[in-house]
Amino acid sequence: MVLLNCDPDDMEGTLGLIEELTTNAREMQQQVLKEILTTNLKTEYLNGFLGEFDDAGGKWRDHVVAFKKHVPIVEYDQVSPYIERLANGDRSTIISSQPITELLTSSGTSGGQPKMMPSTADELDRKTFMYNVLVAVMNKYVKGLDEGKGMYLLFIKPEISTPSGLMARPVLTSYYKSKNFRNRKSNKYNACTSPDEAILCLDSKQSMYCQLLCGLIQRDQVLRAGAVFASAFLRAIKFLEDNWSELCLNVRTGELSDWITDQSCRESVRKILNGPNSRLADAISSECSKGWEGIVRRLWPRTKYVDVIVTGSMAQYIPTLKFYTGGLPLLSTMYASSECYFGINLTPLSAPEDVCYTLLPNMAYFEFLPVDMTHHHGEEDDKDSNQSCNGYGGGVIQKPVELVDVEIGGYYELIVTTFTGLYRYRVGDILLVTGFHNSAPQFRFIHRRNVVLSIDTEKTNEDDLLHAVTQAKILILEPLGIRLTDYTSFADSSSIPGHYVLFFELDAVDTNAKVMEQCCEVVEAELDAVYRRCRNRDKSIGALEIRVVEKGSFDVLMDFCVSNGSSVNQYKTPRYIKSEEVVCVLEEKVVGRFFSNNVPNWEQQPRNMHPT
Ligand code: AMP
Repeated sequence: MVLLNCDPDDMEGTLGLIEELTTNAREMQQQVLKEILTTNLKTEYLNGFLGEFDDAGGKWRDHVVAFKKHVPIVEYDQVSPYIERLANGDRSTIISSQPITELLTSSGTSGGQPKMMPSTADELDRKTFMYNVLVAVMNKYVKGLDEGKGMYLLFIKPEISTPSGLMARPVLTSYYKSKNFRNRKSNKYNACTSPDEAILCLDSKQSMYCQLLCGLIQRDQVLRAGAVFASAFLRAIKFLEDNWSELCLNVRTGELSDWITDQSCRESVRKILNGPNSRLADAISSECSKGWEGIVRRLWPRTKYVDVIVTGSMAQYIPTLKFYTGGLPLLSTMYASSECYFGINLTPLSAPEDVCYTLLPNMAYFEFLPVDMTHHHGEEDDKDSNQSCNGYGGGVIQKPVELVDVEIGGYYELIVTTFTGLYRYRVGDILLVTGFHNSAPQFRFIHRRNVVLSIDTEKTNEDDLLHAVTQAKILILEPLGIRLTDYTSFADSSSIPGHYVLFFELDAVDTNAKVMEQCCEVVEAELDAVYRRCRNRDKSIGALEIRVVEKGSFDVLMDFCVSNGSSVNQYKTPRYIKSEEVVCVLEEKVVGRFFSNNVPNWEQQPRNMHPT
């Protein structure tokens, strides 16, 4: 079975394993596909496409040819009926011969609800393998990581039980609750300041408070700090900014605040608090009183780097992170998803703009749809290229290529066939090949197909935005005879948490604040469930803002874009803006700023489900 064991204590052995995997990437990928197909050929899904090849017997090549010819490249909507059946208790071997043990809720949505990805027991070991490989890579580049601890701020989210009893939960919640995660402590490189009980506390405020407190108490031992994504790390820093005096008081008195009511959290923090410590409280208080620039470096002076993903949509947080971390290296170490974990950064100290990920060829079978980036004009999405590579559904124009056959400089959309029942599944990520490590390609994450706005883990595409804006137009503006002449948007990450900003140009004599606030609220109510959850339960997105610009502003925007190379004939108002320069063009025309005063409702239960 292609499930490689890896001892995180054995750096030489693990580095050797990486060389072996990447040198034999083609063979490894063939072995992975063979294992997935032979194990799952009898499943309803694969049998539906490959049934007649069932008797190919030892002719393995025939299976591969048939797989590529007959198994379609799919998106979530095509697999969701099978997943719904699993969620509803159908125990037949629908997509996987291995039992599906849980459903992983992705931050991508379908029909407004989070997508659910199947998972099996073995998959936890595959994830652990990747984390273990990373330990060796980090030790290669940063010495002495076993001489202290990592202050990793990690969180879980509530789980939902499906009618079948299968849990639906985010991939990291699943991992942190697994024995694989709890057993990590046996490795000396995995020592961390947060007690598992604090990480596993469902109340995110109590969890955050306790983890920060433990990080502060053990500040002299901290060698690295981090969270999974940049947005989460910044939220923690903001929380520290708002709560440092209470945290100091707890350190000074040795008593944990009463509002921490989670008993296992209290107990675990009490062991670390270990009595009053006024010297430490003074030191923390003195640093926090000096202001926030470089606070991470000052509070945790031995920190060598900050481990947070700053690629993709998280790149917007780099300037703010630099401010708070005092220029500590920002390391993006891993590229993963709910579908499966993909790969790691083999040169983790590279600057954020140079980060590339090597997909590990034993994690899944990878294919790549070439994407024609000549249709991309910076601010626009890749709808054109989607049409030209929409798999075998809308007529084949581009054929996918295998992992080792991608070309340097080529843009591709990632397709995975996993050990857990996804076959030729379009992940939706667009990647650029930057080079090779042995025969395994290395990829820069470019963006997610169609996504125009993202602050935390939510992914809002152009259609979602259009739908929400249209609802505000129909429900609020049109009944008052106000016409929305044009709009665009950007993700404002300068505030913590960041928030969506929409620029509206209106055909109205003047704007009424109440009306515009209602527009903000309708837009938020109409955005998808993950946006509303981040805004409502997680508080990881701030109130949506509409900035009304004076009449004629979008003509000025067009003139600006045309003078910067857009063709007049083909000019379309960009529905989202990434460049600060373009934001400034509209910013100068703003006549009013309005915010949503309500948090949108967040429906906790997807259809047919109830919380545990
Ligand atoms: P989810 O399935 O909700 O965990 O989201 C997975 C998605 O997050 C991926 O498909 C990517 O779009 C994004 N993602 C994960 N890791 C990275 C990374 N290292 N850099 C940029 N984007 C990432």
